[in-house]
Amino acid sequence: MATLKDFRVSEKATWCPGCGHFTVLAALQAASANLGIEPYNMVLVSGIGCSGKISQHFGSYGFHSLHGRTLPVATGVQLNNHDLVVVAAGGDGDGYGIGIGHFMHALRRNIDMTYIVMDNHIYGLTTGQTSPTSHRGFKSKTSPAGSAEEPVRPVQTAIINGASFVAQAFSGDVKQMTRIMEEAIRHKGFSLINAFSPCVTFNKVNTYDWFKENIYNLDEIIDYDPTDKFAALRVLEDHGSVVTGVIYQEERPVYHEAMIGATKDPTVKLDLTLQAEEIEAIK
Ligand code: SF4
Ligand code: MG
Repeated sequence: MATLKDFRVSEKATWCPGCGHFTVLAALQAASANLGIEPYNMVLVSGIGCSGKISQHFGSYGFHSLHGRTLPVATGVQLNNHDLVVVAAGGDGDGYGIGIGHFMHALRRNIDMTYIVMDNHIYGLTTGQTSPTSHRGFKSKTSPAGSAEEPVRPVQTAIINGASFVAQAFSGDVKQMTRIMEEAIRHKGFSLINAFSPCVTFNKVNTYDWFKENIYNLDEIIDYDPTDKFAALRVLEDHGSVVTGVIYQEERPVYHEAMIGATKDPTVKLDLTLQAEEIEAIK
């Protein structure tokens, strides 16, 4: 059986010292080992950005895809082999900027995969521009007078549009992040983990200390019910979306099982001849 070292590679990650992405990588390695996954049964698809490097540092099959295109690539992998553990990973710019169209559709389809977004509220790789999750008033090279835009609210979007597992984690708490990743991978359906992962080099506002001061941790709330959709939206509203833990979870059919004519055997194709005959009959 695979152990933690099987999910490690010999090359050192090139992220800046202290970058939150180190914790995301370590948590994913630990969660995968804890779940008893074999690396050859797992595919990690990443996008473009500092976060996108994660697939190079993780000891499974990997696919470093195009900017914003993690989810269509991961969807293709999952629909062709439902037995694989499919994880997609990227950043807030990658996923909620250029990739937001794919995000919306993966949510509502309930594709059976886990999507980890390393959310640092900034574009890191391109040296510090305002991103889709930067707060209103955030100053950067691209908004020197402060951002005039409301941030995208990915977690609320996910809950409303059909994700069946929605959580947030923080790179300052590797234990909680590892547990959430285990739950997300075990969950059947689309699992979003929005991981607060500070960019220590370019974001001097949303730092580790800032998150520690502002996080509302659902693990400390005894009677929180993650199956209550309205309670989930309420807690996010009440705490400025800076909430960690499993926020929402529901059981519903996954895409590849709900698809008409779908089969679990990837070698069996849809009977297109029959469809053609049916179309002919309708004519
Ligand atoms: Fe991490 Fe920011 Fe450095 Fe990129 S620029 S590796 S996000 S600290
Ligand atoms: Mg970012």
